[in-house]
Order: sequence, then structure tokens, then C-alpha cells
Amino acid sequence: MKADLFDQRRLLELQAVDTTLTQLAQRRRKLDADPAFATATQRFRALGDKAANLTGDIADLDRDIDRVEREVDLVKNRAASDRDRMAAGASAKELEGLQSELESLARRQASLEDDEIELMERREAVDAELAEARRQLGEAETVLADAQADRGRLLGEIESETADATSSRQALTVNIPDRLVELYERIHAKQPIAAAELVGRRCGSCRIEKSPADMIPIKAAPIDEVLRCEECGCVLIRTELPGSRPATLASEDELKKYQ
Ligand SMILES: [Zn+2]
Repeated sequence: MKADLFDQRRLLELQAVDTTLTQLAQRRRKLDADPAFATATQRFRALGDKAANLTGDIADLDRDIDRVEREVDLVKNRAASDRDRMAAGASAKELEGLQSELESLARRQASLEDDEIELMERREAVDAELAEARRQLGEAETVLADAQADRGRLLGEIESETADATSSRQALTVNIPDRLVELYERIHAKQPIAAAELVGRRCGSCRIEKSPADMIPIKAAPIDEVLRCEECGCVLIRTELPGSRPATLASEDELKKYQ
């Protein structure tokens, strides 16, 4: 394929833009895989769940405490009514029965009051645990907000740089002959570096140094000949030749200097 060396060199600009786009895509993947944001989200959710569970435990304990208090009231009322009946006068047998019931009610009341104290102690402990969980939740929220802000800022940078590189790419492809762009795109679909400089005898893509024998056809090639690296297949751009437009006007001196 023949193409003006000036146009061939523009492939290097295209390659530079594509390399930037590849790096931006890598940065995006790295950001998506960054554990900082996921870890902060996970911790915030876990602490939120913990606080919700503890709040539920407190509601359960409050219900239990209410139930015990209601039972204590029932026992007290029953004892009061027993005492009223005793004061109102009763037979010896009735008195014996009432006395025995009062003793049983007193034991029941003591047992219920022990239960209530135990429930209240548990409620106090859960309350303290909830306060600590809420404090940690507040911290986790700050960490998550910072991680979100960092991620948003980095995403914004990547997106704006990607938009810039994409429009540069469009502008470049418009200015490079279609055939050359097509060749570049075909190679680029297969490998990240589709066009590279020939530096001395070394290919800028695969970095393999060409033998003096390999250099003979390269040196003999006309200035507008599109060369490919035998090793990696990329378009080899001769940047050590002076630029030309059109290539056919390259002076004999310029060609001699190269050869
Ligand atoms: Zn190569």
C-alpha cells in the first residue's frame, strides 16, 4: 500500500490517542474493581442492619417488660382483693385458703419482679449496644460519602478525558486517508499497538531489533510505501525521514540520507 509519509505519521497520533483511550478504560476498570467503595458500602449497610435489629430487640424487650408489669399488677390486685376479703371476715377454712393464696401470690410477684429487673438490665445493655452501633454507623456514613465523592470525581475525570480523546480520534480519522485508517483499524482490532515508529532498527511496538539484512528492503522501500513490522504486524512509521507532502516530491537528497 502506498500513502503519503505525512499521512502515515498521523497514524502515530491516532495510536497515541488510542493508547490514551486504552489507559482510560483500564482506569475505569480499576475504579470499578476498587474495594474501597464496595467495602464502605458494605460496612454502612451491615451497621444499618445491626442498628435496625437492635431497635427491634429493644421493642421486643419493651413489650416483655410491659407484659410482666401487667402481670405484677394483676397479682397485686388479686392480693389486695384477698386481703379485703380477709378483713371483711371469713371462716377459718376460708382464711386458711386466702392466706395460702397470698403466700403464693407473693412468691409469684417476687418472681415476676426478678424477671422485670433482668429484662430491664438486658434492655440497658442492648440500648448501649445500639448507641455504639449508631455511632459507628455515623462514621461509616462519612467514610461512604467520602468514597462516593472520590469515585464520582475520578469517574468525572475519566469520562471527560475519554470524551476529549474520542473527539480527537474522530478529528484525526477524518484527516487521514480512508485506506490507511482501514488498515490501522484492522490491525488495531487484533492488537493494542497498530502503528509504531521505526527507531533505528527497532520496532516501537514489539521492540524487536531488525537485522541488517531485514533493513535492506526497508531502506529500499519508497518513501510512500506503507511498511509493516514482520514480527508484530504493526504499521512501521519512518520518522527519521524528513516529512513530505506529497511523498513523490521527496527529494533525492532526503531519500539518500535515509538510505
Ligand atoms: Zn514490531
